Amino acid sequence: MQISNRAKHAKAEGAFEVLAKAQRIERETGVKVVHMEIGEPDFPTPKGIIETCKTALDEGKTHYTPAGGIPEFRTAVAKHLSKTRNINVDPENVLVASGGKLLIYTTCVTFLEPGDECIVPDPGYPPYQSAVNLAGGIPIPLPLTEENGYQVTAEELEKRITPKTKLIIINTPQNPTGGVLSKQELEKIADVVKKSNAIVFSDEIYSDLIYSEEDQHFSIASIPGMLDRTVLMDGMSKTYSMTGWRLGYAAVPKEFYGSMKKIVNNTVSCCPAFTQIAGIHALEGDNPEVHMMWEHFKERRDIIFSLVNEIPGMSMIKPKGAFYAFVNVKPILEKYSITSADLAELFLQKAYVACLSGSIFGKQGDNYIRFSYATSKEDIQKGMSRIKELIETEFPV
Ligand code: PMP
Repeated sequence: MQISNRAKHAKAEGAFEVLAKAQRIERETGVKVVHMEIGEPDFPTPKGIIETCKTALDEGKTHYTPAGGIPEFRTAVAKHLSKTRNINVDPENVLVASGGKLLIYTTCVTFLEPGDECIVPDPGYPPYQSAVNLAGGIPIPLPLTEENGYQVTAEELEKRITPKTKLIIINTPQNPTGGVLSKQELEKIADVVKKSNAIVFSDEIYSDLIYSEEDQHFSIASIPGMLDRTVLMDGMSKTYSMTGWRLGYAAVPKEFYGSMKKIVNNTVSCCPAFTQIAGIHALEGDNPEVHMMWEHFKERRDIIFSLVNEIPGMSMIKPKGAFYAFVNVKPILEKYSITSADLAELFLQKAYVACLSGSIFGKQGDNYIRFSYATSKEDIQKGMSRIKELIETEFPV
């Protein structure tokens, strides 16, 4: 008996594996690990959202819903996307799914025939490559470099487009680099895309987590001619600290909506009514906690940026968005002939700091470590001081 090649090539998401390992170490040693592996806000979901959900449950909103989402939530999403992206999204084009991740898979299955190519950012969120593989497609990595601030360049993109390119995945703000794609570059990218047969999947799950005025979020879908060839994804997980609620959404061109909805329907059926009703409160209600969380992330970003750059052999450029520090550790790796996976393991075993090897995110991540700063200021300070001590005593550069 054999499993399919598609299943063989799918990788488990590294962050979940490291979390399980770190928890095992905590159980076995009794030492509290500093958790900087997983991309999940450490704050509770805002109160108003929880209360709205409780009321929905009390009112019996516990049954199947339409596969594309309940009309009220789709309307709220359409209004939200139209306003924040300066586009005109119709509720009919809004597809709701249990998490943005399911929309990545749904898009790959919808657009890729076996052997078709999908351009993915490298470094990039690992489920992109897995979803392409699961759909029988071929992921084509598009290198993003620290030197150019992790911009996708139109030139590099164009070099990788072939007649087999059916899908191009872009992500802004980015996981794992914190890079934000500029309007100028996205306009050039749109020009390149328009010459191809490809659809763009624009992962904008961190759209609200940008920390300076000059780096405003910009969606490729808002460029004239792009809305009809873009699946624009966003969701509730990060901005509203709703990771466990599993609620994401996308604006899908009308032509493809029915096909994508069928995939959601044939996998998870639909999303719970009570989470979608809570989602309306997230988008339209008063949630003062959201700004408070943003302020904390911004402060933590500044803290980790300065602490990392004080550690010999480690450096980073300032992330513009999301909540990840993508740290260059090349001098340490070269001096001690180790990989970033070895170093991440050493940080966990010897410094009790859980983080991710950059190689999880693609070949371009080989000389990097990703730390999530969606954890308390105290933990960031503790984690970086443990790592500094380890490097200074055992791996001086
Ligand atoms: N895209 C990116 C870039 C992410 O980092 C994540 C979560 N780590 C997701 C999508 C998926 O988010 P969710 O499924 O929780 O909506």
